[in-house]
Amino acid sequence: MTVYDYGIIGGGPAGYSAAIYAAKLGKSVVLFEKDKVGGTCLNRGCIPTKTFLHWADLYTEFKSGVKKEIYRAEELGFSFEKISAEKDTVCNNLRKALELVLKTMRITVVPYEAVITEEGKISANGEIYECSEIIAAVGAKPRELKGLEFDGEFILSSDDVLNLKQLPEKIVILGSGAIGIEWARIFSAFDVDITVVEAAPDLLPLADIEVSKRIARMFKKSGIKFYTDCSVLSADKMNKSVTLSNGEVLRTDLLFVAAGRVKCDIAPPGKNVKIIGDCAGEIQLAHYATCQAKKVILGIPYNKELIPSVVYGDPEIAWVGKREQDGEFKKVLLPVTALGKAQCDNCTEGFIKILVDGDKIAGAHIISKEASALIQQIVIAMQNDISVDRLKEVCFAHPTYSEGIFEGLMRL
Ligand SMILES: Cc1cc2nc3c(=O)[nH]c(=O)nc-3n(C[C@H](O)[C@H](O)[C@H](O)COP(=O)(O)OP(=O)(O)OC[C@H]3O[C@@H](n4cnc5c(N)ncnc54)[C@H](O)[C@@H]3O)c2cc1C
Repeated sequence: MTVYDYGIIGGGPAGYSAAIYAAKLGKSVVLFEKDKVGGTCLNRGCIPTKTFLHWADLYTEFKSGVKKEIYRAEELGFSFEKISAEKDTVCNNLRKALELVLKTMRITVVPYEAVITEEGKISANGEIYECSEIIAAVGAKPRELKGLEFDGEFILSSDDVLNLKQLPEKIVILGSGAIGIEWARIFSAFDVDITVVEAAPDLLPLADIEVSKRIARMFKKSGIKFYTDCSVLSADKMNKSVTLSNGEVLRTDLLFVAAGRVKCDIAPPGKNVKIIGDCAGEIQLAHYATCQAKKVILGIPYNKELIPSVVYGDPEIAWVGKREQDGEFKKVLLPVTALGKAQCDNCTEGFIKILVDGDKIAGAHIISKEASALIQQIVIAMQNDISVDRLKEVCFAHPTYSEGIFEGLMRL
């Protein structure tokens, strides 16, 4: 019987990255995936959502151009069906590319559910695979709330919402984490009547407090209704309504429960099982899963404090490190409207906020077009202990959003 160097269960970012890194080292690898390689990220998460967001943002921009009489359009509209088909094309193309990489790297992919039977042994589709090392990367699934169990028709999970054939007129989104906010932005762009219900006192509760407040302002401006310190007590599919904890009853076509994700379990009987990715129950982000894979196979360390977070949409929201509510910091906040590039792009909403401790950046919180790229500059500076004075010596190109980081630091 072949003994593989690595048996990896789960073909999402954690599992496939680990497989690729191991194969690059010349190790023999068997990767088990019961559904589709790419996992949640490629098939039900990051990629499909961002494809919807792309077309949603473009539509918003186009509407704004028409309003300014820059563009003329007899009848402005969109096909949700075509956007959905586009999303499938993007996912399929990326999946095919990943399958090709796995094949080229001679990774054996077993398309079945796998179970660890005993130390060093994995069973799938009636066969036993012997592996020197086992990695479990089985991911997470949408959190189901008691009394609000998913039915795929009225109460939807983040998986169900991707399969909508048409847009609802009204939707209630329970939860304002990244998934809830991104979908609120998608629906809002397509003129759906949205209400977001958040149990915490502020929207996007994990973010810096000023970011949360600004999202509330942006939601009000774009007509997205929201409740904080509130939850959904019950849902009535027949009458198409939900009852909130404050006693209000809202009529809605759909309830989308975006209340986090719970790790999937895989009982490891042996000591030799490493658990990585969402199922490790730490930070549930694709890039964190990849960092864990890199660490477990290549021994390359990562700093858990410096994992960036991004919420996509118009404008993007990104942050890293300490938040204002985490302690005492020197702070600078540069409104994006001060940037020439933001004015050119008609994207003046947001700010670049930097928190400084001594002469080092302690955290940064950005709401701006390209925030996802800007935050990476801050991560690199923080991870390499680059002082504020050294950063001031860097030449930032003009006109760019990056200049906002420089302008901000110069104000300190
Ligand atoms: C709507 C949404 C949007 C998101 N957006 C972002 C984003 O913008 N950025 C970001 O960083 N993260 C985002 N995420 C989170 C990201 O998708 C996850 O953090 C990432 O996919 C975790 O990777 P993983 O490999 O740990 O798990 P997964 O991607 O969930 O992969 C686990 C895989 O294991 C397989 N599996 C499970 N059990 C078995 C078994 N017994 N045998 C064989 N196979 C098995 C599953 O089928 C699955 O394919 C989003 C998630 C959602 C739901």
